[in-house]
Amino acid sequence: MQIERGVTGVTTLGPGSRLVVWVNGCNRRCRGCISERLQAFDPENEYDIEVFLRGFDLSRIDGVTISGGEPFEQAPELAKLIRLLRRKGVTDILVYTGYTLEELRARGDGATDEALSGISVLIDGPYVAELDDGTDNIKGSKNQRVLFLKPGFEKKYSEYMRPERSMQQMPLANILLAAGIPPAGFAERFINDDEEGEDEV
Ligand code: SF4
Repeated sequence: MQIERGVTGVTTLGPGSRLVVWVNGCNRRCRGCISERLQAFDPENEYDIEVFLRGFDLSRIDGVTISGGEPFEQAPELAKLIRLLRRKGVTDILVYTGYTLEELRARGDGATDEALSGISVLIDGPYVAELDDGTDNIKGSKNQRVLFLKPGFEKKYSEYMRPERSMQQMPLANILLAAGIPPAGFAERFINDDEEGEDEV
């Protein structure tokens, strides 16, 4: 699977302290996309998913968030990632997609259906800049939906969801990572403050 990176300890992309997996590649090209850098596919970031997951202690996380990029551009690999996470006992799996749930179901493709069957919470739909009023900490624009595909997660997520956004800045080996749904003007400030900075949603 083409994966830009995985980071644990993220608290701004879903409830609790999470492993966030950012994948490469997205063909949607939403105007104003905060993850523009991840729209390109990158064969150099091809990981064996089992080997990739061995790098993380999944017993110490509250859930996994898969973002990008567009996870469903790599549907067979996404299905495998979710299958392995579930096998390792992860039940809270949040996936961001620029497709709507109806578009994904209409694909009629086994890998997409398998991935959907393992997802706990799906945040769906393209980012629409005109519908971003900066008031949701879990999604980028008002057209996007928080869909509970498995029961039992409504309370955990409703306690996390609020109208104020915040970004978590995490120094990694050679970059300063900013994780979260950016408040208005954050990208411009972040890039001006730190030329090595990278935004991820
Ligand atoms: S679907 Fe997501 S990653 Fe793709 S262009 Fe739209 S906002 Fe960016």
